Amino acid sequence: MEKYSIGIDLGGTKILAGIVEKQSGKVIFEVKNKTKKEKGNKKIGQKILETLDELIKEGNISRRDIISVGIGLAGQVDRKNGILINAANLECVNFNVKELIEKKFKIETFAGNDVEVAALGELKYGAGRGFKDIICIFVGTGIGSSLIKDGKIHYGANGSAGEIGHMIVDLNGRACTCGGHGCLEAYASRSAIESRILGAIKKGRASIITDFADSSSISSKHIKKSLDARDEIVTQYVNEAIEYLSGGIASVINFYNPELVILGGGLIQSIDDFYLGTIKKARVKALPVPAGTVKFKKAELDDYSGVIGASMLSEWRQQTN
Ligand SMILES: [Zn+2]
Repeated sequence: MEKYSIGIDLGGTKILAGIVEKQSGKVIFEVKNKTKKEKGNKKIGQKILETLDELIKEGNISRRDIISVGIGLAGQVDRKNGILINAANLECVNFNVKELIEKKFKIETFAGNDVEVAALGELKYGAGRGFKDIICIFVGTGIGSSLIKDGKIHYGANGSAGEIGHMIVDLNGRACTCGGHGCLEAYASRSAIESRILGAIKKGRASIITDFADSSSISSKHIKKSLDARDEIVTQYVNEAIEYLSGGIASVINFYNPELVILGGGLIQSIDDFYLGTIKKARVKALPVPAGTVKFKKAELDDYSGVIGASMLSEWRQQTN
C-alpha cells in the first residue's frame, strides 16, 4: 500500500496543499486557494482547514494512508510546538497551527518556515541533490534564504539563520519592512523593483508596464514582459536590483564558501536574464578562491518546493532532533 504525506505551503497571498507520495516525493493531487483577503489567526486557520478538507476529499485517499501533515509558514515559527509566532503579511500572532490541524484531522502535524521547507524540498528532490554545503536563496516579494551545512539546515541559536534579505548593503539606505535601513531586500526584491518603477512613473516617466499591470500589483511576469519590450525604466531598475543582489550573494559566497547556490522565487523563475545576470556578476564580485568552485543552479521544483519540503518535515524532525 502506498503511503502519503500532505505538504502545505502557506504564503502571503495563496495556500497550496498537495498529497505527496512518500517513496517518490511526487505531488499526486493538489489544491490551491487564494488568501488575499484572509488575515489573522481565525480566518487563516479556517482557510487552512477548508483547503485540507478539500484536498483529502477530492484527492480520494483514505485518511489512514496519510502519515503526517507538514506546513511551511511565511513567518517566524516555533518548530517544536508548531506555532506561527509572527507573520506580518498574514497578520497572525502566536497561532498554534499544529493544534488546529491535529484537533480536526487527527493526523500528526509539523510546522516549519516557508524558506526552510522549500530548501528541504530542493535538497532532497531538486537542485540540491548530491550537494552538502548549499545556500538556497528565494527572490520574490522579499528575499529569503536557507543555509545547508553538511546536508542539514543550519538554524542558528534561535532558528533565524539565513536572513540574507536583511543583510545591510547601504548604511544610510532605504527603509526596510523589518524596521531597519539599507537591507538587501529593499534593493533587490520584486517589491523593491516595483516601488522604484512606480516612483518613476509618479514622477512622470513613461513605462510600457502600465499597459499590462495596474499600479497596485506588478508581478514578475509583468516585469519580464516590459524587459522583453526593452522598456527603459524597467530595464534600469532590474539592472540596479541585479547589482545589489549579486553583491549580496558574493558576500555570502565569501563568508560561507558554499559548493552550490540555488536560486529560486518569482523573479528568478520568470526572468532568465535576471538569473543569468545575477550569477555572472556574483562570480566576478566574490573572492577568487570561493568563486572558482561555487556552482549555481536554479531551483528545480518551481512552485512545489515548499509543498514537497513540508511533506518531509516529519522525518526531517526525527533526524535532526
Ligand atoms: Zn530589513
